Amino acid sequence: MNYIKKLASFFIVFPFILSASCGVSEHGTESGGIDVSNDEPAISVGDILEVPSEEIDDKPDLGVPHEDEPPPEPEQLIVRAVAVGDNLIHQPIYSQANRRMNNAENSYDFSPAYENVFELIAGRELAIINQETLICNDIFPPSSWPSFNSPVALGDFMIEMGFNVFGIANNHTLDKGAEGLSACLDYWRTKDDVVVVGAYYDKEDRKNIRTKEINGITFSFLSYTEHLNGLVLPAGSPLEIGDAKDLDTLEIEIARAKGISDVCVVLLHWGQEDYDKIEPYQRAAAKRMADAGADIILGTHPHVLRDIEYIERVDGGISLVAYSLANFISAQDKPQTMIGGVLSFEVAVNSQTREAQIKDVLLTPTITHYDSKYGFIRIYPLSEYTPELAAAHGVKEFGHFSYDYIYEVLNNNVSEEFLVLN
Ligand SMILES: [Zn+2]
Repeated sequence: MNYIKKLASFFIVFPFILSASCGVSEHGTESGGIDVSNDEPAISVGDILEVPSEEIDDKPDLGVPHEDEPPPEPEQLIVRAVAVGDNLIHQPIYSQANRRMNNAENSYDFSPAYENVFELIAGRELAIINQETLICNDIFPPSSWPSFNSPVALGDFMIEMGFNVFGIANNHTLDKGAEGLSACLDYWRTKDDVVVVGAYYDKEDRKNIRTKEINGITFSFLSYTEHLNGLVLPAGSPLEIGDAKDLDTLEIEIARAKGISDVCVVLLHWGQEDYDKIEPYQRAAAKRMADAGADIILGTHPHVLRDIEYIERVDGGISLVAYSLANFISAQDKPQTMIGGVLSFEVAVNSQTREAQIKDVLLTPTITHYDSKYGFIRIYPLSEYTPELAAAHGVKEFGHFSYDYIYEVLNNNVSEEFLVLN
C-alpha cells in the first residue's frame, strides 16, 4: 500500500464521471468531571439528426447548442468545509449553560462555551461534527457519563453555530436504549437542511443514503462506530446503527453513496481511547474504504489527535483520512484530551468532468479550557490561548499541562504540513 503524506494538494479522479454526476476500549469511558450531480442529460448529435428537419423548424429553441457553438466553459465548483471531533457534553457543561439562564427549566446558554471558535465554523458551507452525546428530545433529563443525554438546546445551538452534518454513530448511541435513540432521531428529523447519519429508524431509512448538494457539488455521508459500550439493541428492534467493524457492509454502502455523489464522506468512531498513534488495522480499513469510494474519512473517539494522511486509491485517485480529530469540547480529566482541532479544507469540483480536488487541508488546533474544579468550560483556538491560561488550567489538578506541552503534543501527533501553529 502506498500512502502519500507530503502532498500540498491533490486531485481525486472520478473514474465514472458520467454515471456519478448524472446519478440520480470496548467499554469506552469518556468519564468527565462531575462539577464538582448535476449535469444536464446529454443529447447526442445523432438524436437531433434523426428528427426530420421540418420538425426542427417548428420547434422552439430549447437551448441545445448548435454544432458550431463552443461548449460552455467548465466551472470550478467550490465548497469550504470544516470538521471537528467529539462534542462530549458532560454535566459541568450543561449545568453551566443552565446557570447562565438562572437555572430555569429547559433553558440553556451554551454560547460562552463555544464563542471563541465561532469564526472557525461560521461561513463554512459544510461543517461536520461528531455529536457524541444523544439528544433525546428532552424526554429524559440531561445526564452525563456513563449514560449521556443532552438537552435539545444543545443541538439547536450547534446548528446555530453552523454545523450541518452530525455523525451520531458512536459508543454512546445506545446510552438511553432504543427509546432514547428513537427520541434522538425524532429530534433530528425536525431539523431541515441538516444531515444526520449513523443511526436510522430501520433498514429502509438506512438505505436512503443521505446526500447534500452545496454549490453544485453533491456530497454523501455515512457514519459508523466500532463500539456501543457493550450495549445492544433489544431483540426485534428495527433501529439500525452503522457498525465500523463490518467492513463488507461499509464497502457496499460506500460504493452506493459514491455512485450518487461527487464526494463521499465517511465518519468513523474508532480506535483506542487516549492513544495518539494510528493503529495498523485503521490504515488497512481506511484503504478498503477509500478503494470502495470514500473520498474523505474523518475519525473520532480516541479523544486525542492522531495524524492526517492521504491514501492512494486503487483507481489512482487520492483520499484524505484524519484518523482522530480528538475532542471538540469535554470535561475530561486527561491533559491531552484538552487538545483538539478544527480540520478545514476546500473541495473543488470541475462542473463538466466532475473531477474533485481537495485543497488547503489544515488543522487549526483548539484547547478546551476550564478553571479549577471544571469551572467555566470553554474552547479557544490555539492562536488565542496564552501561557497564563495554560498555567491556570483546571486539568493541572490531574496531570502535567503547560503551554509548551500543547506544542509538544501537536508536533508529536500531527504532521507539520497540516498544523496551523501561530
Ligand atoms: Zn466515543
